[in-house]
Formats: sequence, C-alpha cells, structure tokens
Amino acid sequence: MARVMIVGAGGVGNVVAHKCAARAEFTDILLASRSVDKCEKIAASIGSPKVTTAALDADTVANTVKLIEEFKPDLLINVALPYQDLVLMDACLQTGIHYLDTANYEPIDVAKFEYSWQWAYRDRFKNAGLTAILGCGFDPGVTGVFSAYALKHYFDEIHYLDIIDCNDGNHGKSFATNFNPEINIREITQPGRYFENGEWVEIPALSIHRPIPYPEIGDRESYLLYHEELESLVKNIPTLKRARFWMTFSENYITHLKVLENIGMTRIDPIEYQGQQIVPLQFLKALLPEPASLATNYTGQTSIGCHITGIKDGKEKKYYVYNNCQHAAAYKEVGSQGISYTTGVPAVVGALMIVNGNWKKPGVFNVEECDPDPFMELLGPMGLPWHEVFDGVSPFEN
Ligand code: NDP
Repeated sequence: MARVMIVGAGGVGNVVAHKCAARAEFTDILLASRSVDKCEKIAASIGSPKVTTAALDADTVANTVKLIEEFKPDLLINVALPYQDLVLMDACLQTGIHYLDTANYEPIDVAKFEYSWQWAYRDRFKNAGLTAILGCGFDPGVTGVFSAYALKHYFDEIHYLDIIDCNDGNHGKSFATNFNPEINIREITQPGRYFENGEWVEIPALSIHRPIPYPEIGDRESYLLYHEELESLVKNIPTLKRARFWMTFSENYITHLKVLENIGMTRIDPIEYQGQQIVPLQFLKALLPEPASLATNYTGQTSIGCHITGIKDGKEKKYYVYNNCQHAAAYKEVGSQGISYTTGVPAVVGALMIVNGNWKKPGVFNVEECDPDPFMELLGPMGLPWHEVFDGVSPFEN
C-alpha cells in the first residue's frame, strides 16, 4: 500500500494517473503539475476519490518539498520534463521518498542529455536508504528490461543490440510530435551516435537510414539516432560489441523538420524579438499540438523491440523481443495515444516494483540493473503484452 505523487499532467501523466488509480496498491494519488487545470481534467476523467490535484512549479526544490510534506507520499513519479529531474531528486532526498522517471536530465540551455548528472546522486540515495529508478518508460525503460531479460535467460554474452522503434500511426496533423515537442526536436536534431568496438561513433543527424521490417507493419524507413538507454546499456552489458538505436520517421516529418531547422525555428538559444528574448524552439512548441491532444482519432500502431545477437553455450543465438500497441486501443482505455501509453504503463509497473519490494534497494539505478522477471510478468497484464522470436531472420548483419 502506498501514497504516490505524480508530477506532470501531459500525455504521459494522464496514462500514469489512470493506471495508478486502477491499482489497489496505490491508496492515495496526488497529480501535481504547473497547469492545475490539466490535472483537474485528468482527475475528472478518472473519477476516483483516490485522486487529488495540486498546482506545482517543479523548477524549485522548496515548492516541491512543501507539497511533498503536505501530501506525504511514499514515492514520486516524475513525468514532467527532463529539466525537472534534478530538482525532483533533491526534493525526494530532502523528504525521504523514492523516485522514478522516464527521461534523463538535460540542461535547458544545452541540447545534451547524459546520465552523469543523475548518477552523481547514487551515494546520496544509497546513504538515505532510498530508491531512484531512472528511465522507466518504453525507450528508455522496457528496452533495458528486455535486454536484461535476454541476458538473464537466453545468453551467456550479448554482442549486438539493435533497438528498433516504429510509430506507424496517423494522427491526421501535418506536423506534430508524439511527446513533448521541445524535448523531441532537441533529441532528433542532435548528431546521431552509436557504440562499436569500444568506441562511440558520431554521425551527422539523420544521415544513416534504411528500411527495417516491423511485425504486423512491414518495412519502414528507420533512422539511426542517439538514444539515452545506449549509454547505460553499454556500461551495464560490457560484452556488447555494438549497440544502436533506430526510429522511423515519415518523409513528411523529415521534410517539416528540415525546413524548421533551416529557418532557425529549432534553435534553443534566446533571440531578441520586439524588445523581448524568446527561444525559437519554445515558441515553436507553443504553436504545435500538445501530445495529449493527438489521441482522438489516432489510427495505426507502434512497434518497439530489441534485436539481440550473442552466444549461449558457445553457439551464436538470435533473439527478438517486442511489443506492438494500437493507438485506438490506448485511447479507448485511458484517453491517450500509443506513445504516451507505452511510456506511462512501464512507469507504473516500475513504481509497483518499488512498492512491492522487487526493485526497492538503496541507490540510483537504470532499469537493466534490476531483476527483469517481475517487471516482465506484470507488463502484459498492465497493457503491454510482449512477444519473442528465437533464432529468426535478423535484418541486421553482425
Ligand atoms: P507533455 O508536454 O505532454 O507534458 C509535460 C507535462 O509536464 C505538462 O503537464 C507540463 O505542464 C509539465 N511541466 C513542465 N514543466 C513543469 C514544471 N516546471 N513544473 C511542473 N510541471 C511541469 O509531455 P509528455 O507527457 O509527452 O512527456 C512527459 C515526459 O515523458 C517527458 O520527460 C518525455 O521526455 C518523457 N517520455 C519518455 C519516453 C520513454 O519511452 N522513456 C517516451 C515519451 C516521453 P504544462 O502543461 O504547464 O506545460
């Protein structure tokens, strides 16, 4: 039994609040975010007396500490933006509660994400006897659990990992991002990077792409991106010879993105406009549809999984594990699109792992450092069934 505080009332926050409300383990739920009206709308759609709401600017530790002291949660789920990660971790330490998020910290003025800032909290969480779970969405998140599960059950050594992420959905808008536009565009416009033979190889943004087959979908053009779980997986699975991340984008999306980039709309440095300082990407975010608003009439599905090659008992083995998620089914269940759903469900499964003791250990952890079995067991029943293919045809060469 636990009291949980959810910070962030966007697309993902909606899913997390719905799924927490449906679990008996969570007796009281506080949904807190900058715009309290969004929290209230979500709470009304859930209609449970367990859910209360509050306004919170989570950019300052003092605000967050005050609210935590009033509500007294056991655990905080951070589904606001990566900019708030450190403030929320500090607030958890000050008040003695556990922490979980879905995206690693990045400073607002540098488009750079890495785990170093959050890994630096390890000793403090350890000494306080508290658990912090980092990156517990789908990717990062389930992709790390999939990799840990493969290593635990099917491989002596993992050598090659290709994480493949396809959104074959259609929201009917000319251009929109499926999660926070600012974070999404910062991620995609930075140089690509992958790990090979002990080194990181950097490539110009979106310069390597190829068709990759996805189950029930078929071949889709997929772009090699740098994605945050690569950093922790390479560290935690030291036998990896190569680790890459691929994501699909439509031609329409890439064209819009290139134009926006060419005209300076994706810049994150402030510019002077009519006597005011504005950040072009933040202005663009204000114009684009909110991720949560895409859910109505979203058709098609997502498919995210891991292609893994390695050895077991001296023989080469191939393994593919994936989930497909229908946007319309997610909407019918909780009123969200598939990207929010595939992020929010694992966050709640991770929170349950802390509450039921399976992942409750002092320190700061990436998901692959925790036992994958209880997480995998709950993932399907919670809404994200997964499928395995053993020694099938891999689209990737070694
Ligand atoms: P949204 O933009 O829809 O929602 C973000 C929410 O955070 C909004 O409610 C926003 O409030 C709130 N917020 C922003 N700043 C603050 C602040 N200072 N204090 C309090 N609340 C704040 O984003 P999503 O729901 O799509 O994404 C949420 C998170 O999930 C992001 O960090 C994203 O990177 C991560 N994510 C992770 C994935 C994974 O697989 N691991 C995949 C997709 C997303 P307001 O409405 O006032 O702006």
